[in-house]
Amino acid sequence: SVSVLLFTSDLRVHDQPALSAAVRETETVVPLFVLDPGVSLAGFDVPNRRAFLADCLSSLDAQLRERGGRLVVRTGDVTEQVCRVVTETGARSVHIAAGVSAYAQRREDRLRTALKELRCELRAHDAVITALPPGAVTPAGKDHFSVFTPYFRRWDENGLRRALAAPRRVTVPEIAGHPLPRRSAVTGVSPGLASGGERAGRLQLTAWLADPTAGADSYAERHDDLHGDATSRLSPHLHFGTLSATELIQRARKKGGPGAEAFVRQLVWRDFHHQVLAARPSAARVDYRTRGDRWRDDEKEITAWEEGRTGCPIVDAGMRQLRHEGWMHNRARLLTASYLAKTLYVDWRVGARHFLEWLVDGDIANNQLNWQWVAGTGTDTRPNRVLSPLAQARRFDPHGDYVRRWVPELAHLPGARIHRPEELGDLERAKLDYPEPLVDPAEGRARFERARGLD
Ligand code: FAD
Repeated sequence: SVSVLLFTSDLRVHDQPALSAAVRETETVVPLFVLDPGVSLAGFDVPNRRAFLADCLSSLDAQLRERGGRLVVRTGDVTEQVCRVVTETGARSVHIAAGVSAYAQRREDRLRTALKELRCELRAHDAVITALPPGAVTPAGKDHFSVFTPYFRRWDENGLRRALAAPRRVTVPEIAGHPLPRRSAVTGVSPGLASGGERAGRLQLTAWLADPTAGADSYAERHDDLHGDATSRLSPHLHFGTLSATELIQRARKKGGPGAEAFVRQLVWRDFHHQVLAARPSAARVDYRTRGDRWRDDEKEITAWEEGRTGCPIVDAGMRQLRHEGWMHNRARLLTASYLAKTLYVDWRVGARHFLEWLVDGDIANNQLNWQWVAGTGTDTRPNRVLSPLAQARRFDPHGDYVRRWVPELAHLPGARIHRPEELGDLERAKLDYPEPLVDPAEGRARFERARGLD
């Protein structure tokens, strides 16, 4: 008997419930990945993620080969390709991780309908992409939690499934596939982009859990330290599913300590946003809570923000890190997003789109809902707070080293003075190749408060 395992955002063999079920239930399994041009048309297939995906698929193929199998890659519409594979092999079941985005839900519906015609069953597995499936905990009479803290409390009381070992053998039937995509063939990739793949992810996780100075042990105190860079940087692996959130939580808890607990809490934010999106797929585009904003739309300012030339050093540092690495520190994401959506008062969708163009972990649930949270249209219980870029800079980059790294034209300014180039004398300023601030942040805040009727 044959089954198909359609990989999506779960490109791993360890703790892979869909793969384990397929291997358990049938003698042979087609481990399938479909490169669907529909994803490119939706603008989701960008160079950084495409390059990382190529690494993930190579690593997955290697993992499967170690177990006697291989990865089968096909190109085309996902429903059509899966149906072809089912017809070619006579498979009676297709396994897939249950997804939460509107795209994933549509894909599942279409597959289910098309497969029925072939008398083949679609099996969607929960808790593959997130630790707890969306909808597993809900407040009385509602379909999802709209505030994090009560969600976290309930999440914590709920038992997680146990992480699964990787299957020992995967036997693949005779079937043709296309060549694996190659990272080297992708152009326009950020020069500092990390390597992808399950093997790289597992090594990174083990190293981070054991690192005494910039790892799990120091996470509680150092996760906001921009220059210290002590967060796990595992987000691309979670996005592509090369690591499982369940396994991460169990390994962090086994290690124990305040750092590991703070890390688990952060992972629960991921589950939280996924359960909001699963219940409200439109929140990817539409304000979760509308505040009747009349956003400003100044193209010059938007371009300056995108290019890291706002004249606000801490914001520019974050935006340049994004382009260089395809990744940005969480604290920098918060303050650059707040600067766009509140200080400049530009529609959060503009910023979210730009982030999705560059972020290797760019994720509909996490990106759109974090943007809404920052813009005050989402789940933040204090929607009108405005982060002061200078206060953020002084607190989270007290010696200016993060800015020094990403804004080299200011690197000679000593200590925290790097955060205020506008305070230099005229002569010194004229020598700098660095723009004047787009706006005085205090004025930006006042404008935002007026617009929201808070003045
Ligand atoms: P760590 O601090 O090591 O945290 C561990 C994991 O927890 C992360 O890998 C991530 O999966 C999860 N996590 C941490 N913080 C959050 C959060 N606030 N929301 C959801 N999950 C979280 N994260 C993405 O994965 N994809 C995105 O597209 C994305 N866009 C964002 C946009 C904005 C405006 C903001 C403010 C945050 C965004 N985040 C996004 C959340 C967060 O910034 C990143 O997950 C984090 O910076 C990744 O770095 P890390 O793996 O070192 O995190």
